[in-house]
Amino acid sequence: MTTHFSRRHWLTTTATILGSSPFWAHAAEKSAAPRFELPALPWDAAALDPVISASTIGQHHGKHHAAYVNNLNRLLPSSPLMDASSLVDVIQRSARNDAQRAIFNNAAQVWNHTFYWQSLRPKGGGTPPSELAKRIDADFGSLAALREATLSASTDQFGAGWVWLVLDKTQKKLAVVKTGNADTPLTQENLVPLATIDVWEHAYYLDYQSRRKDYAAAVFDKLLNWDFVAANLAKA
Ligand code: MN
Repeated sequence: MTTHFSRRHWLTTTATILGSSPFWAHAAEKSAAPRFELPALPWDAAALDPVISASTIGQHHGKHHAAYVNNLNRLLPSSPLMDASSLVDVIQRSARNDAQRAIFNNAAQVWNHTFYWQSLRPKGGGTPPSELAKRIDADFGSLAALREATLSASTDQFGAGWVWLVLDKTQKKLAVVKTGNADTPLTQENLVPLATIDVWEHAYYLDYQSRRKDYAAAVFDKLLNWDFVAANLAKA
């Protein structure tokens, strides 16, 4: 009992001394890495039902997306990226660097998911705004052809990943690309992401089991936020 009390007393005293020391305070300030927060969903968790259920959204945002944010905040302070200026800066500096693979995976997944929520909206899909519709016709032939390219990419992606509508600045054309796991078009200089569909199983398994194509079709037809696509294209 006496030993226990003494030890606790010693720890309290030491913490007080360190806490009040200017050196300690300075060191704490210097090691302050950016901290990221889980962004709120742009709509109510039940708002996409029945295309994507409230339970899928609850798990996906509250567990998966949140875990990526927490992992990133845990990994950053002891990394060479603790002076990063933004999430995109973290992603671009850790890309293709094996030593920073865990940071890249979590940072990219934080960004990808935030972008995915914005790519969806209740009563989405349908006809794009007229300027965008013309651009889609010029670059894909038709909206139906873009839809087919999107569904093919979703089923061609082997394992977990993402399907993206992007602007390819080199080709000066809209394009559909897929990326595996956490990979994101942000790491390719010529690509500007315009919208994305998450094709990890956790995005659709509760609602569609293994029917990934049905999920991608339902998202394209009923949830895709064309105004978000148009706004991203306008500032690309
Ligand atoms: Mn996901």
